[in-house]
Amino acid sequence: MAEQKPDIVKPYDPSVFEGPSFRKKREVPGGLWMRCPACESMLYRKVVRENLDVCPECQHHFRVGARRRIELLTDPGSFEERFAEIAPSDPLQFKWADKTFADRIRKEQEKTGNVEAVVTGIAYVKGRRVALGAMDGDWLMGSMGSVVGEKVALLVEEATRTLLPLVIVCMSGGARMHEGALSLMQMAKTSAALARFDQAGGLYISVLADPTTGGTTASFAMLGDVIVAEPGAEIGFAGVRVIANTIKSELPEGFQRSEFLLEHGFVDIIVHRKELRNEVARLIDYCAP
Ligand SMILES: [Zn+2]
Repeated sequence: MAEQKPDIVKPYDPSVFEGPSFRKKREVPGGLWMRCPACESMLYRKVVRENLDVCPECQHHFRVGARRRIELLTDPGSFEERFAEIAPSDPLQFKWADKTFADRIRKEQEKTGNVEAVVTGIAYVKGRRVALGAMDGDWLMGSMGSVVGEKVALLVEEATRTLLPLVIVCMSGGARMHEGALSLMQMAKTSAALARFDQAGGLYISVLADPTTGGTTASFAMLGDVIVAEPGAEIGFAGVRVIANTIKSELPEGFQRSEFLLEHGFVDIIVHRKELRNEVARLIDYCAP
């Protein structure tokens, strides 16, 4: 009897439906409950909120939008918004697939209630008056376009004029591709404004939240006199995969996380969100001119 030949294994063909996946989907009931992506605990949403959007089980810091950030960091009712009237435009008439940037702007504004990906103004942190910027990671990934650069530069100039300590909470996917080279120019503009602020003797505390990447990292995020990071935040320039492919080697565990960067001198201090107000106030008292 002839030996039966094994079936030839065909290459994977995505057009052939091979039945449903057997991997059970994790069910997360919406609304009242949420799952922590770090420890996978089921958490009561209200408890997480009361805990400053930090997982009570494992201390994972959830991402928070700009308004929530301001609420968590400043004295109640003390925030006066500035430069809110500066709205984005679409200078390149950018389109991709069947979407337009103009539509996307409207959607991001509706979703977040913010005109752009950074909110700027003057506020008090434990009684200390500061010029404050908070990036909104929910607004097109906190990307830095012309308006973000302009608002940050205006905030820095305001701080230079008034010699207020400057605090910027960074949370960004990097420069905004939809505005092309105009986004890249914001790196130079914000950096130049910060250089003048520095020459005037100003104190700049940069707070890096998860994630801080790309052109934002390569400009104002990393120019703080003191660079504070939240625990476990992803902080880097290019993505891990891009770097690994470029240098053709494996990257160490936890590469581009706050703790790794602290160890390697890119971050000065890691501060738990519940200590952030105290720490910013302490730094102002310690360092301010
Ligand atoms: Zn957790």
